[in-house]
Amino acid sequence: MKRIESVREMQDLAGRLRREGRRIAFVPTMGYLHEGHLSLIDEARKAGDVVVVSVFVNPTQFGPGEDFDVYPRDISGDETKAAGRGADILFHPSAREMYPGEPLTRVHVEKITEVLCGARRRGHFSGVATVVTKLFNIVRPHAAVFGQKDAQQAAVIMTMVRDLNMDVEIRIVPTVREKDGLAMSSRNVRLSPEQRKHAVMLSKVLFGLRDTIRPDTAVEPLLKEAEATLSGLPGAELEYLEMRSFPGLEPVERFDRDAVIALAVRFGEVRLIDNILLKNDLDS
Ligand code: AMP
Repeated sequence: MKRIESVREMQDLAGRLRREGRRIAFVPTMGYLHEGHLSLIDEARKAGDVVVVSVFVNPTQFGPGEDFDVYPRDISGDETKAAGRGADILFHPSAREMYPGEPLTRVHVEKITEVLCGARRRGHFSGVATVVTKLFNIVRPHAAVFGQKDAQQAAVIMTMVRDLNMDVEIRIVPTVREKDGLAMSSRNVRLSPEQRKHAVMLSKVLFGLRDTIRPDTAVEPLLKEAEATLSGLPGAELEYLEMRSFPGLEPVERFDRDAVIALAVRFGEVRLIDNILLKNDLDS
């Protein structure tokens, strides 16, 4: 696997690969790779014949007081894992390389960024949309792979690609979980053993809702009950638990179309998100 740190070098190589008729599949990440990221690499190998993985902890998607400084990093571990899974190129630019001057341009997706995580992390999704646009212009992928784990991010990227006619096929991969159901996340290593024990309830609550909700179910009382369970977890602070349409992220009262139930819970300094997709097959 080749490691590239320069934007110019990555762009030149991408141009050369394209001229040779190769299909570039891209997996953007913030590193500290786990099995969730590696499943995205598996999908990328199906989507193209050259797989590029980026590792970049993007400062512009973190707000003041968020965990940018303490976000876990391990580039040599990432290199071994990505290579072991068949990635061809690891793109690992520095912040200075990505943002050499004060950036005056931002990509902002409206409406769907104002709810769920977007309502609590102001500016987060324009940081994401902007860096993904930059990475697309640098890596020049034919296809890019994202995780369902970050459902709102997936919706934002799909919307951006549609609205701006970006010529990139977007693939979304299901969430990879620990044996007990906890969604894999680079942030899980920051949980204390006690917090880790309680964190299992996030997925349990979501699975419970998925298994109970039918098209004629009144959802509100079930969500209230689930909220009480999560708020009652020792050391946990529930930020939100909501059911919305997917990918439009409109509020829904009944499961009458494809929907997502999404949540964010804080354990001290560690903020975890999870979600479950409800596929409505009534009209299929
Ligand atoms: P991150 O490094 O957290 O920015 O994540 C990079 C990509 O990996 C995003 O598209 C995430 O949605 C995806 N991802 C993170 N965790 C998981 C997981 N447990 N299962 C599947 N995809 C994931």
